[in-house]
Amino acid sequence: MRRKEKRLLQFAGLLIAALLFLPNVGLWSLYRDRVFENSPEIVEGPGGIPQIQGVNVRPQKDAQVGRDGMRRKDWHDYEAIRRDAARSGNGEQGKPFPLTDTDRVDQAYRENGFNIYVSDRISLNRSVADIRHPNCKQKLYGEKLPNTSIIIPFHNEGWSSLLRTVHSVLNRSPPELIAEVILVDDFSDKEHLKGSLEEYMVRLPKVRILRTKKREGLIRTRLLGAAAANGEVITFLDSHCEANINWLPPLLDRIADNRKSIVCPMIDVIDHDNFGYETQAGDAMRGAFDWEMYYKRIPIPSELTKDDSSEPFESPVMAGGLFAVDRKWFWELGGYDTGLEIWGGEQYEISFKVWMCGGRMEDIPCSRVGHIYRKYVPYKVPGGVSLARVFTFGWREDIRVGGPMHTKKVCFDAISHNSPVTLYDCHGLKGNQLWRYRKDKSLYHPISNSCIDSNPTERKVFMNTCDPSVPSQQWLFEKTNTTILETFNRNSN
Ligand code: UDP
Ligand code: MN
Repeated sequence: MRRKEKRLLQFAGLLIAALLFLPNVGLWSLYRDRVFENSPEIVEGPGGIPQIQGVNVRPQKDAQVGRDGMRRKDWHDYEAIRRDAARSGNGEQGKPFPLTDTDRVDQAYRENGFNIYVSDRISLNRSVADIRHPNCKQKLYGEKLPNTSIIIPFHNEGWSSLLRTVHSVLNRSPPELIAEVILVDDFSDKEHLKGSLEEYMVRLPKVRILRTKKREGLIRTRLLGAAAANGEVITFLDSHCEANINWLPPLLDRIADNRKSIVCPMIDVIDHDNFGYETQAGDAMRGAFDWEMYYKRIPIPSELTKDDSSEPFESPVMAGGLFAVDRKWFWELGGYDTGLEIWGGEQYEISFKVWMCGGRMEDIPCSRVGHIYRKYVPYKVPGGVSLARVFTFGWREDIRVGGPMHTKKVCFDAISHNSPVTLYDCHGLKGNQLWRYRKDKSLYHPISNSCIDSNPTERKVFMNTCDPSVPSQQWLFEKTNTTILETFNRNSN
């Protein structure tokens, strides 16, 4: 009897303690949120929904059915957002690390091209600033999204920068959307990337490590990871990235909408000196290239952004390293050209194939990933050539009109005022290969004093007397930059 009473008392005591303790956890966390320096301010958001720094406090996990019958839900992990917001310390909230002169020594940069001393002193789980467009905080994405393999190639990457990449992905992605994380070692010789890395990753069961048998360069290393991947989607990241809040659902949602999509997050800058996390200068730009195949970022035409710059927009070429693609479609595209060395050019290759194969390439403003832009390239490049700018594709001839610069291989060439337009080795001597863009005469060939004309049924391109009223001479130049065209015409005189 006494023993039973004791048990009952013990049980009641525990129950009371639990009742007192549990709400206190809640209260404590609220209190903690408020006392920390970075305490999020609770304000009233649109529709009277309370928000923390613009993010809904009340989890909106229930799916909503859209006008198109699609079920969409709020994918934000509010618990993780709350935890992140409460973090303080070195580099937390994406703030720059306060550098001293001893941190700035050359040695800190030598191995990685960025300051590894600073990286080592910032938590692997550090929080970053949520610098998304405010509309992103309200967006819903498909309730059912494909899962993805995350493929991270690395060559002699720093320990903390590599691990922070992995941690940020696991911390800021819905677990059910991550099929696996594949680290592909491109024949690194750093000790920490061998046994220690394997030991470390034992505790992260989703992470696999693959290794190349010789130095392959970025492209073939990515391909090795892609070939081993099991996810429905494959997502490529560099080995020194940090995924931002809710970065993954906006990407996967576009692929779920159209499997022939290649989607890129907006790439933010992690400073190579102090690791401050911020947007790129001219954030809202899209990828493009000039006649010399130099990658450029240019403003987004207003008709593409409509009224909402948080919406996905199409882009001619991707920036390169960071993107997601349906795994099967990636292989239908033929993957990457395996002849591409180290890096450079691969973004054109894949981008052109996407557009030619009826796909679409998009940048997704609500998905943000930070990337450390190095001070300099720290690794040796076999053969000494690092860039393929002058390059040709096995599957496509390089057709560009002749111009004053001549790094291209073949140029448009025309002999007389009624000759066919042919492709000929660029001689750089202007003459028969000299062309001008003119509003009144479209693509004009001053030597033969005639315009380029086409017969689409015969798939023939030839020269003809310039006549603005002939439809087959009306070439469509969208969004021309008259200053650049004038300079081009002037230089080719
Ligand atoms: N990389 C690789 N093998 C190489 C060179 C680079 O696997 O021979 C990896 C590198 O670790 C990184 C990615 O490929 O994850 C892109 O290279 P990097 O970051 O040096 O290019 P950047 O971003 O500086 O243009
Ligand atoms: Mn990189």
